[in-house]
Formats: sequence, C-alpha cells, structure tokens
Amino acid sequence: MITSYIPVMAKESTDDEDYTQYVDPFVGTDVDYGQQFPGSVVPYGLVKLSPDTYPHTNDDHAGYDYSKNRIAGFSHTRVEGVGGQGAGGDVLITPTYVNYTRRPEASSKAMLYSHDQESATPGYYEVELTPKTGSDENAVDNESLGKIKAEMTSAIRTGFHQYTFPEDGSVSLLVDLNYTYHGTDIRNAVMEIDDSNDDFTAISGRFSGKNVSGHGKYTLYFYLETQQKVSSFKTWNGSRLYDKDSQTGNDLGVILNFDAKSNEPVRIKVSLSTVSSEQAKIDMHNEIPDWDFDQVKADAKDAWNDVLGKIKIENSAQSGSLKKLFYTHLYRMFMTPVNATSTSNTYRATDGKVYEANDYVHYDSWTLWDDFRKYPMIGLVVPDVYKDIIRSLADTMTTGIGTWGIDSQTVPTVRTEHAVALLADGAAKGYIDYENLLPAYQKAKEIADATVNSEVEALGYVPGRVDKTVEFSYDDWAIALLAKQLGKEDDYQKYLKRSFNYLNLYRENAVGDILWPKDANGNWMSADPERYGDNGLYQGTLWQYTWWDSNDVNGLMNAMGGKENALTALSYLFGEQDPNNGKAMLHTNTNEIDLHTPYLFNYAGKPSKTQYWIRQIYTKETWNRYSGTGEYNPPRYEKVYKLDPQGLMETMDDDAGTMASMFVGAAMGLFPLTPGDTTYQIGTPFFEKMTLDVGNGKTFTIEANNVSSDNFYIQSAT
Ligand code: CA
Repeated sequence: MITSYIPVMAKESTDDEDYTQYVDPFVGTDVDYGQQFPGSVVPYGLVKLSPDTYPHTNDDHAGYDYSKNRIAGFSHTRVEGVGGQGAGGDVLITPTYVNYTRRPEASSKAMLYSHDQESATPGYYEVELTPKTGSDENAVDNESLGKIKAEMTSAIRTGFHQYTFPEDGSVSLLVDLNYTYHGTDIRNAVMEIDDSNDDFTAISGRFSGKNVSGHGKYTLYFYLETQQKVSSFKTWNGSRLYDKDSQTGNDLGVILNFDAKSNEPVRIKVSLSTVSSEQAKIDMHNEIPDWDFDQVKADAKDAWNDVLGKIKIENSAQSGSLKKLFYTHLYRMFMTPVNATSTSNTYRATDGKVYEANDYVHYDSWTLWDDFRKYPMIGLVVPDVYKDIIRSLADTMTTGIGTWGIDSQTVPTVRTEHAVALLADGAAKGYIDYENLLPAYQKAKEIADATVNSEVEALGYVPGRVDKTVEFSYDDWAIALLAKQLGKEDDYQKYLKRSFNYLNLYRENAVGDILWPKDANGNWMSADPERYGDNGLYQGTLWQYTWWDSNDVNGLMNAMGGKENALTALSYLFGEQDPNNGKAMLHTNTNEIDLHTPYLFNYAGKPSKTQYWIRQIYTKETWNRYSGTGEYNPPRYEKVYKLDPQGLMETMDDDAGTMASMFVGAAMGLFPLTPGDTTYQIGTPFFEKMTLDVGNGKTFTIEANNVSSDNFYIQSAT
C-alpha cells in the first residue's frame, strides 16, 4: 500500500464549479455543539445577519439554537462559536402583524418556524414564520393566516432583508436597538427617523454593546433604509410609544408600519459602520445601490466561491460527506476577523480616532487566545488577506489592545492574547513593513513585561500557574523573533531567555516528565495531572498543557528526558496503553489546549502515529474523556466532526473557526503547528488530489495516491 505525497507547482486552470453547494451553514448550530449561526454573511463580513431564536439565553453565543422552535427576529452582529457567552445581536428586525400600544415584549415577537421551511446557503438564509396576530402581549400564533417568508442576504457592511407577507394589509417591521446578547443597560443609543422623502423612510443612529462576560465595550453606527415609504411609525423609549422622530436612551426602537401587498415583499437594508451613521449610509449606497435582492444574493455567492474555490478537491474514492465537511469548515474559517474598513477607506481604531486605510483593509474582531493557530491557515488560502490582517493587528496593538479587550473596541470582539505571535508570523513571511511593526513591537514588550513582572522574571515561572507560564513563554519567544528581525540584540537575548521559563516546570513522572506547578518558594505543589482545571489551570489539565510550547518542541522533549521518553508520554497521552478505556484518553479534541499534539509524533520519530491519530480524530470515532468545560461521564466514543446541527462534540465551541481550521489543516495534510514558525507539519491528506490557487497563476497540488479511509499511511513523499 503506497501513498505518496507530491506537491506540484503548475499553471492555474479555469474553474466555474459552485463550491457553496458543499457548505451546510446549519452544521454546529445546535447550540452546545458548536455555537454556530446559519444566517447570511460574506467572507469577513462585518454584518452577520442571522435569525435569533427565542428565548435567548446566555448559552446561545451566536443568537441561534437549532433546537428552539421560535424565532424572535433577525440581528446583524455576532462572534460565532466563541466563549465568554458571545457578543452581538445588534439591530433586531422582526416582521409582524401584531398591533402594539406599548413597547413590544420579546414573547410577542417570537414566531413558530419549522426546519422543513428553513434553508441556508452561503450568503443567503430563508425561513417561513407563523405570524402572530392580536395586540401587545396578548398576541397569539395564527396558523390560518399563512406564513411570513423572511429572506436575508448581505454584503460586507449591509444586511438586506426581504419579507413577503401572506395577505394584503397593514404590517409592521420592529426595529429593536435594545436587543443584544449582553445586558441592555449600556446601549447609550441614539436614533433619528427621516420621513421627509416621498419614496422611502430612513433611520440613523448608534448604540453600544459588550460581550456577554462584560468586556470589550464597542460602539457601532447604523443607517437603515426602507424600499417603500412607511405608512406611519411609532418610536419607543422604555415602555411607552411616541410619535417623536428622535430618541436617546438605553431602550429604544421603532415600529415601522407598511401597507403590504402579498405579491410585493417589504424590503429594508441596514448598514453598520464604526465611523458614523453618515458613513453607514455612504457604505450602503456604495455596496448595494439598488433593491435587487437576487443580484445581491448572487454577489454573495460569488464572493464565497472566490474564497472556497481557492482549494479544489478531486476525490473519486471517498464519500461526499468528507468533501462537504471540508468546505463547510473552510467556510467557517472566514468569518472572524471582520472587514471593519468603510467604503471610503476609513476605520475607527481602539484609540477612538478615525484613520485612513488607503493601502490595506483594516480587520477587527478578535478571539486570538482561541484561534491564533487558524491564521497561518488563512494565510495559506488567501495570503493577501492575511497580510492585511497582520497589518491590522499591528495597528490595533499600537492604538490599544489588551487581554479580554479594552473598553474602546469598535466591533464585537473577545480576546487578543498571542497577537504578538501573529506579528512574528507575519514578519517572518515578509508581510509587514518596519515602520508599522516597530510601534507594535514596543507595545508587545510593554504588555509582556507587565505580565512577566520582576517576581516572575526572578523565579523563572508564574507561581502556581503552569498555564500562564507556558503562554508567556510563547509570547516571549515571539518577541525574541521580532527583536532579531528588528536588529535589537539585547531584547533578543532577554526575551529568548525568558521564553525558556516553561522548562523550569517539568517534573519527573512515571511516564515522561510533565509540567507541574511550583509555588513561590520553589516547591512542587500537590496536583492531579489528569484533573481539568487543577490548581486554577484554564480549561485543561497538566497533561494537556505539558505540550503547549510547540515553538520549542525539541527543547520540550529534551526536558521530558529525550525523544524516547517524549514518545512514551505522547503514547500515554493518547491512551494507547489501554485503547478500550476512555478514561485513558488524556488528549482532548474538544478544546484548544492540546489540539496540536497529534502532530508532535512527527518530532518524536513516529510520523505514522501522527497520521493515525489525525485520521482517527477527524474522520472516525475516538475516545473523548474531556469536554469543552470539564469531563464527560462516562467518556464518549464518538466522531468529533459531523455533518449535522450537532456538528461538534457537546460543549465543543467552534471558537470563531478554531476547530474549523483544525479540520481544514487535517484534511489538507498540512498543518502550521506554531504561528511564528513558518514550517508546516505533514499529516495525512484526506483526498486524492487537492489543488490550491496560490496566486500569480500558480497552483500548489497535494496528491495522495490511493488514499482511502483505511489506506492513509504515507509510505514515501516527494
Ligand atoms: Ca473552546
């Protein structure tokens, strides 16, 4: 059985395949199995226009839960699949027949829907809703009226809504500025209705939000335009309705009334901007100048094909589900960060000022602690985008960046640890200029020196905290790489030395030395290396954190007593000594801490084990003892990645494309182990032939002859 692995450089071929047909936006939308959303988004879209199921709970990180049977409306922002209970849910639009005499309550908006009358494809979502009729909170489901058809498409900054009502008559669209996933006390909203035009009605304003855990305050501006002029409107400010056309407060909204015709949909567009509502209006008219819904839908599909089509798969021997999983996860890789630049090439930075971005696209919305390994994968598919992301990170670091976000964000965002490692990765790839890198480098040093304080520096570890020690060591390594590149020899020596701090915490263990916490006096602490969260460990175990510093794998293996010991310990981590016992599986696929460990067999001289475990974890059933939040009791023997609304393991967040990028890397047989290190680990390709468009008319082809579900060991590679 010979599988070969032949990268080939060749000329690009023309291709008009529709790759969106392989994407299932419902994968991972059953809340605790991925935290994904099914709505409309284009690649890097600031607007992620998606249904919000009812009732919303803090467990619904992206607003939608496949297992809930009511939809309360459609909102424009979210950070998909992240922890911290998510962020977004801004500008909720609800089509309704209900007559309101006071502020619409959430329960009166919630309409029944069925998955049989719901569909989604990249850049388009539709659902049929059972309307409610009646007044205020006495409104009831009205099955006899027919369905309200809700359709969504979008451009980067603009959501396009199209609602078809079953009967002629008076209908309303509710525009709720108070709704959001975090507490609603800090909206500081402003809105103004312009009804002076004969043909349409417009609303402009702003609001503020946070992520649900209470960090990362942001302010966004909006502009909304209707296609047909409203027949009347009411605004609300708190519980009361008003005829006033402008309002300021935390709990604001508008009821827009229309004379609807059953054969003529009611259409509105909503644009978001970090700069101003005037800019949102300019952006709307630049992005979507007219009311041609089908054209915008087609454009969104084209935008996805431009990205998804960068990787072409030929796969005669294997089932189509693997291909669908691949493109579905490739799709999920391009939602965070978002394009936060206006169509006038301006953006607002975290210092509150507006800057020009004439020579690049400014990206924002970070969840870097989770997804930092995703970025070199993005770079592999769309290098020009990655280049601009690196520049954006440098600029954001210069204007203000911090763990869990500072309270002057411009868009929903989560956290930013390891930003410096991506700077190092970009610098190593020649993706950033000296003048942009230097101020970011200075900030990175300030951040690192504030965490690795004099006490930590003297001890050579963070007392009691293995997790912080390994993560700071990695960031220090990244700073050392940048120092070297910038010709700062003293800094290089200082941070390189500090990057080895983690080596101070390896302790002799029966099966290979593993990381262990030490107190401030240098004594080993009592610890349980298999216990999730032991001694304050963040979302992992000592066994899992032991492998964290993949920037220094050889050093790490030396600290474990050499490669042979490291191999024994790796084998033990994967429970190979007791393969039928789920409790023996100490590695976890469900969370970020040691996702890269299957690739470390390559370093320990056993690449066949890397190939075995990658194929097992990503395509077959494996033992899972640890969940995203603790342990499964009992352990589960299960497929981790499935083409299903329950698309990931229970409690396994996708974390803004983290898990998606792991699947994509696994399927390609190429995995960027460590941002900052420009090498890729070879795993085992899932498909016979994959062709990457690498730009300039060149392609990179990965061929794996005779590869199949059972034939995946690489015998030779060229
Ligand atoms: Ca996670």
